[in-house]
Amino acid sequence: MDIDNEMQEGMDELHLLIILFAGQVWRGATAEEAIGHIAKYGELLAPAMADQLDPAAGPKASFFRIVGRAMWNNLPQPAQDFRLTKLSEPGRNDPCFCGSLRKYKHCCARMPEFPIVPAMMLEGLLETMPRKHWNKLAGSSIGRDSMLQVVLMWQQEDCHEKVAALLEPWFKGEGAIKNVDADLLDILLESYVVLDRPRKRKSLAQAAIARGENVARGIGWQRIALMEAEAGNDDASRRALAEAQRADPDNLNLGLLEVHLLITSGNTTMAQERAKFWAMRLAKLNDPDLHDQIAWLREVVLNPQAAMMQMTRKGGDDSIAELEKLLADAPPIACHYRLKPSDGSTGPFAPDAKLGKALKDWNAAFPSDPPSLTWMSTWNEAAWDDADAWLALLREQPLLWNSFEVLDDLVIALDGCGMSWVRDELIPPLLERALALFDLVLEKQGTAQLKCEWGWHENRPALRLLARKAVDGMESSDQEERDAAFGLMRRFVEQLNPHDNHGFRVRVVAGLIERGLAAEATALAARYPDDLADMQYTYALALHVAGQEAKAREVALSALQEYPKVGKILLAESPRKPRKDGREGYTPGSDEEAWLYRDEHRPLWEKLGALAWLAELARKGR
Ligand SMILES: [Zn+2]
Repeated sequence: MDIDNEMQEGMDELHLLIILFAGQVWRGATAEEAIGHIAKYGELLAPAMADQLDPAAGPKASFFRIVGRAMWNNLPQPAQDFRLTKLSEPGRNDPCFCGSLRKYKHCCARMPEFPIVPAMMLEGLLETMPRKHWNKLAGSSIGRDSMLQVVLMWQQEDCHEKVAALLEPWFKGEGAIKNVDADLLDILLESYVVLDRPRKRKSLAQAAIARGENVARGIGWQRIALMEAEAGNDDASRRALAEAQRADPDNLNLGLLEVHLLITSGNTTMAQERAKFWAMRLAKLNDPDLHDQIAWLREVVLNPQAAMMQMTRKGGDDSIAELEKLLADAPPIACHYRLKPSDGSTGPFAPDAKLGKALKDWNAAFPSDPPSLTWMSTWNEAAWDDADAWLALLREQPLLWNSFEVLDDLVIALDGCGMSWVRDELIPPLLERALALFDLVLEKQGTAQLKCEWGWHENRPALRLLARKAVDGMESSDQEERDAAFGLMRRFVEQLNPHDNHGFRVRVVAGLIERGLAAEATALAARYPDDLADMQYTYALALHVAGQEAKAREVALSALQEYPKVGKILLAESPRKPRKDGREGYTPGSDEEAWLYRDEHRPLWEKLGALAWLAELARKGR
């Protein structure tokens, strides 16, 4: 038997002795009776402990008497309102309590007390007390530290029902909730979160606000702030947090919570300001225990998204941390697709036998939720309900990292994970990988210049990933990244997928105009005479900039006539934003279509000084 096992056995035996001892005291035994019982039966009940004793040190019963005495001294006494009552020490020349018959000063006075702490005894006592009597502890003189240690331990062991059963009686009734019980209050509120009892959570938080001393009141408000944030009520959440800070200005956790809520509700700039404030305030306290908090707040100031990612990793969101690790360890890209190009097109992206087999497992494990045929994007929350299964597959079959279907599924799942910082951290490398893989496949199959059409549903995961990379990249603050993304979108429209719009054509035409490539812009726009208002107006702009004035006027006049609302709202100084009709997308000819065009393209018209030209045509056309 190894040391660990021996220790464990000893601990189990001690636990048994504690329950036995506490049970006797609970039923009314005196100190002498309870200690005498342990001395008598200790060797029998705890053979592993007894075996470890040095026979030369004296009779084993003496040892168990010492253990029993330590138990009594650390046991919250039910008959004394759960206070500790220590046995008095014998006089130095009196016989020792252990029964050795030696003088105390020559015996146990020289020994350290057997290592038992009140929390161990309290736990044993609770185990032996019928639950219906647990309410006797509420508001008693019991040491709050021991209470805390016990409930924290239960919390760690996921015994949240027990935590709630023990703590609920503490906050029943109408009495004030004292600051000394604030930690217990917080733990009970937390157990309601885990047990998914929102009504109890809310009414306890409200009780703390109504009849708590200031720290308890602060905790009540803090919980309300969290609940409002969960419900998406950012304003109410902020108000509750302000109340919490007013009630308990010294609670440093509130600073962290405030910053956290600001980031999750998208108020990044404000979060950075507040993080700066709290970091300075905490730093002034000069407390080494606050080091981690301060470091995190400073990280928020520099990079809020990365700071939240840090917290997600540490906070035990295992699936996200695991996915991040697997992605970092993903094998180099390799081509596992077989294409049969024909007619200038790659044909469908068919996985080879090996990847096809792995994908069967993947599709069985991953709750896929691809967008409907016409939509480009969607999100998937269900994937996180049982992420272990598909994470295990990714670990066991790294080949899956070379599948567009898998990469697409992961991006859609990350969009549904509800954490913007996780999206920002993990989606870009997935898209990067998708683009590299796409180029590799086309190169290996000798199809680098061909079309890869949306019409083949097998191609959609890859195309969706490429389109996403282009769209995201064009939002970048970095000019080089924006140019690369524009190049990709142009390739998407001009080479890969010329037969489907996705709203990209007009963006490419506008991008070409913006980059001084008006001739290319007109050539591209001319290919799509049937595209709607946005394309016709932008085509007119391209022609005007390219100096093809006659054709420009003709296209502009026809656009103004066919889509008058777009022209009107584009030219208006400060038009009113139309209300959404509640449906996704917009209807051609609607105010919303006009508004969207203005919103996206007016800056370019302004930049090129073309608004006056269009206004003039609009006047003449009327
Ligand atoms: Zn002794």
